[in-house]
Amino acid sequence: MTQKYVYFFGPTGTEGDATMKNALGGKGANLAEMAKLGLPVPAGFTISTEFCTVFFAEGRQFPQSLREEVAAALKKTEEAMGMKFGDPDSPLLVSCRSGARTSMPGMMETVLNVGLCPATIPGLIKKSGNERFVYDAYRRLIMMYSDVVMEKAEDIEPADGKGIRVQLEHLMAKMKKSKKCESDTDLTTADLKKLCEQFKAKVLEVLGREFPDDPSEQLWGAIGAVFKSWEGRRAVSYRKIEGIPGEWGTACNVQSMVFGNLGNTSATGVAFSRNPATGENKFYGEWLVNAQGEDVVAGIRTPNPLNEGTKNPQNQHLPSLQTEWPDLYKQLDEIRSKLEKHYHDMQDIEFTIQEAKLYMLQCRNGKRTGTAALNMAMDMLDEKLIDEKTAVTRVQPAQLDELLHPIINPAAEKKAEAFLSGLPAGPGAACGKIVFTSADAVEMAKKGEKVILVREETNPEDVEGMRAAEGILTARGGMTSHAALVARGWGKCCIVGAGDMKIDLGAKRLSVGDVKLKEGDLITLNGTKGKAYAGALEMMDASENPRFQGFMKLVDQFRTMGVRTNADTPEDAKVARQFGAEGIGLFRTEHMFYGVGSDEPLFLLRKMILSKTVDERKAALAELFPFVKKSIKGTLEAMDGLAVTVRLLDPPLHEFVPQDAAKQKSLAESLGIKPSEIKKRGEALHETNPMMGHRGVRLGITYPEVTEMQIRAIFEAATELKKAGKDPKPELMVPVTCDVRELDVTKVIFDRVKKEVEDQTGVKIDCLYGTMIEIPRACLLADRMAKTAQFFSFGTNDLTQMSFGFSRDDIGSFLHDYLEDNILEADPFQTIDQNGVGQLIEMAVAKGRATREKLKVGICGEQGGDPASVEFCFRCGLNYVSCSPYRVPIARLAAAHAAIKAKK
Ligand code: PEP
Ligand code: MG
Repeated sequence: MTQKYVYFFGPTGTEGDATMKNALGGKGANLAEMAKLGLPVPAGFTISTEFCTVFFAEGRQFPQSLREEVAAALKKTEEAMGMKFGDPDSPLLVSCRSGARTSMPGMMETVLNVGLCPATIPGLIKKSGNERFVYDAYRRLIMMYSDVVMEKAEDIEPADGKGIRVQLEHLMAKMKKSKKCESDTDLTTADLKKLCEQFKAKVLEVLGREFPDDPSEQLWGAIGAVFKSWEGRRAVSYRKIEGIPGEWGTACNVQSMVFGNLGNTSATGVAFSRNPATGENKFYGEWLVNAQGEDVVAGIRTPNPLNEGTKNPQNQHLPSLQTEWPDLYKQLDEIRSKLEKHYHDMQDIEFTIQEAKLYMLQCRNGKRTGTAALNMAMDMLDEKLIDEKTAVTRVQPAQLDELLHPIINPAAEKKAEAFLSGLPAGPGAACGKIVFTSADAVEMAKKGEKVILVREETNPEDVEGMRAAEGILTARGGMTSHAALVARGWGKCCIVGAGDMKIDLGAKRLSVGDVKLKEGDLITLNGTKGKAYAGALEMMDASENPRFQGFMKLVDQFRTMGVRTNADTPEDAKVARQFGAEGIGLFRTEHMFYGVGSDEPLFLLRKMILSKTVDERKAALAELFPFVKKSIKGTLEAMDGLAVTVRLLDPPLHEFVPQDAAKQKSLAESLGIKPSEIKKRGEALHETNPMMGHRGVRLGITYPEVTEMQIRAIFEAATELKKAGKDPKPELMVPVTCDVRELDVTKVIFDRVKKEVEDQTGVKIDCLYGTMIEIPRACLLADRMAKTAQFFSFGTNDLTQMSFGFSRDDIGSFLHDYLEDNILEADPFQTIDQNGVGQLIEMAVAKGRATREKLKVGICGEQGGDPASVEFCFRCGLNYVSCSPYRVPIARLAAAHAAIKAKK
């Protein structure tokens, strides 16, 4: 038997359901599920994603068996609808839409009104009694079909402004102008008839082919174009950004057309069962009378609000569905409740009203902002629609990032005057330089500039620019436009439909009344309110949200792995504690030699570095000691009661040698030597490859007195705190080790100094002695390392550097090519390379624990705050991850997700 690729849905005999997302795609699976629930879904069928793979493997051809399956499903569709495809008297029209496993808004193709041609036009006019509607549908078909099937799917790449769609749009604009029409709906039947003829002539002229007027040819052309769009440029870019595998493929949904543009009792709309920007439990959406679905999302006309309770300043003058057609609104609202109860999640719905009858065209779990995800999860928990575990999984770790993102300081915003307002499509704030094209956004962002992408309206081709920009501002479009959906999915600040803005793309300028701005000018967006300000406004943090605290409490009920922070100052430690850090996993002591207040300790460190004799060095260390002790004490105090892993000095010393003459002179004076001698001593410290040079534990092997000073500082600081009634919990960590003997040599100093301080003060301090694991050899010999080390902490920055042989500081020059050529899937310095470096980690954990069963193991490389890496660490059995303060909540949530997933 040949494999089944086609699945029917409709009022009778629906073959699929919501569990079949992999085969039917999200849209197809949900259409089937809605049909099964008895909702009014126009009948149709889905060609599965599995066929997409076959289609490309077979050289973009349709096998005979598929043609037969489609014919059988089409027959069933015709029976369900009481019409026939291609029939002159009662013609059935269909739509062909893409639909992957996960939603990819606007990234693939759709063709509507398939089956309309001179042979079926008279029949449809007779049936609908509306000649204008039929020619309106026909001109839409010609435009969409020639663009999607005859141009894009044929890989024709027209010059800018020469694409068939643009050329047909010109013809239409010309017609509107000559007839003095404001809106598309003002064109008469005769106008549209003429326009269709003009369109067809233009298609022949531009594409060199007649527009196909055979229904069957139209159908197969549209199906082919939908599948081909899976490999289209936009879809491929989007997949790369979202990490969607190419082999998933898209399904193709062929569905009976119902018309929202059949006159003034017809309409079309999109809705969310709750507000996707805020999470508020209010039915939320937009609709347009006498329109097709594309009109709502394309942002050409400003859509009407769904109900009275969700009107906003931009649409408050427009009629709501609730007041216009209360019965239909009630029916739709009931469907909303039914769907939420069925799916236990917020639904994104598309509907059409054809001559006062409601049809459901689509439902799927709605995309939402991080704020909305959190609010909905907590609300649905209160409503008992979901349980605690589900609530925790409803918010993605990356979405929390958005909650922790800055907002405009309200005080600063109060004083500022917005020059423009639009629809608040993606919350939070963003500030950056204006750019007017997607390519410029990408280019400037690459140079490290923060940019705001300003567009007339975004189309899906802008996806890379939107990604690169801090925020997005468009003149047109509604809350459900592509720009809004994509931005919201990424948690980007976004304002759409700012209609007062005039853009001069050629001159790269914009104006709003008297305000004129150009490329490179700074603006600030408030995506929560939909306001734009000229210049850079002061930002602030949005983390003190009680809902957020409640959610994080829930998260911790499911989390089993610890989460610490990398913090080097009492201030960082305090922030991290507020975010729920359970200790410090990495305190880089060298921080005290950088930035504010570092002048004096840095001077003394330099003195120590450039000392020639042990006595000189000891004298310098004695001067440095109080600063080191103070720094450690401050951080231990800020983390009172929680572990603080203090790392011995790590960077190569020559990094601290002064380069400017004035600093060299004052150092020479203090050491009683000539400036030329300083230069000489500095040169002697020069290394060809400092990352693999005299750094980390190696410094202490050569200069044990440096290690001794630091260990003494830790014990004295802890002792003083303990005497003051505090509960310091230091841990000593030795960096860049590759052999247990390095640890043994250093341990002798550790034990001696610990005893000396204890004998002197009579205070006993518990302090674990451990090591970073950041050299592959240390992983290979982890069983031996664990004989002396009481804990391991993976330094995956260096471990990645040394495993790949990629310099962590220079990878930028070639990473892009590695990603582009698919040699690497991701930057291994951002997310752990689980296949390679991951093996070293697994081995080191196993070997370490073979020696010391209860060996505590953590990670403190940058990847410790990356959700995928957190999950990997959980699977490796790590006791904790440690990351920068702002990523602590993300890591907590990722750890909870990992624990929940493991229990499934
Ligand atoms: C590491 O190498 O992963 C690490 C945390 O240490 P540093 O970044 O300070 O080298
Ligand atoms: Mg390191």
